[in-house]
Amino acid sequence: MKSKLQVVQHPLVQHKLSIMRKVGTSVAEFRQLLKEVAMLMAYEVTRDLPMTKVRIQTPMQKMVTPVLRSEKLVLVPILRAGMGLLDGMLAILPSARVAHLGIYRDDRSLEPVEYYFKASKTLKGRDLILLDPMLATGNSAVAAVDRLKRAQPRSIRFLCLVAAPEGARALQRQHPDVPIYSAAIDKKLNSQGYILPGLGDAGDRIFGTL
Ligand code: URA
Repeated sequence: MKSKLQVVQHPLVQHKLSIMRKVGTSVAEFRQLLKEVAMLMAYEVTRDLPMTKVRIQTPMQKMVTPVLRSEKLVLVPILRAGMGLLDGMLAILPSARVAHLGIYRDDRSLEPVEYYFKASKTLKGRDLILLDPMLATGNSAVAAVDRLKRAQPRSIRFLCLVAAPEGARALQRQHPDVPIYSAAIDKKLNSQGYILPGLGDAGDRIFGTL
């Protein structure tokens, strides 16, 4: 079974992503656009969260009204580029908890190496949203989901900006229960594991380390 892969086609998301791809877009513009895209994508990635009903009192009368059923969501940025999506997500989900997961990609093997993980003790039974702008080989994403599943969350969703077909396939194959939300599926990876046409190194563009 393959996991669901949803490309967020909203015109605002597509327009902002196109500006982010341009080589001349400044660090400040890139960050701001990433924040805006994350806010727009937060809407899609949370679309099927479970709801319940509560009884409240309005200034006029009592009523039964829908609220989120879940405990607080947990956002999990993969360091460091995933941090670029965090502000926008938190703007829409201000009470979400944040767990940081440090994974870097070894330049030679392209294999993921975990170097940091800090989360609350209570990931068990929670709904998690894993954040990484670029789903390239999929190795880091697969390793991140492996790691998070050890904490027995109720669900994991994966949110990225640009996915390579190779990475999407790898994540779908290894973790068919994890839906992927992306603003684009690009053509392919190059021999260094960068996405083509892509937008370059997302971490460098967010943090100005070009
Ligand atoms: N990571 C990036 O930041 N960009 C890519 O194209 C691939 C991986």
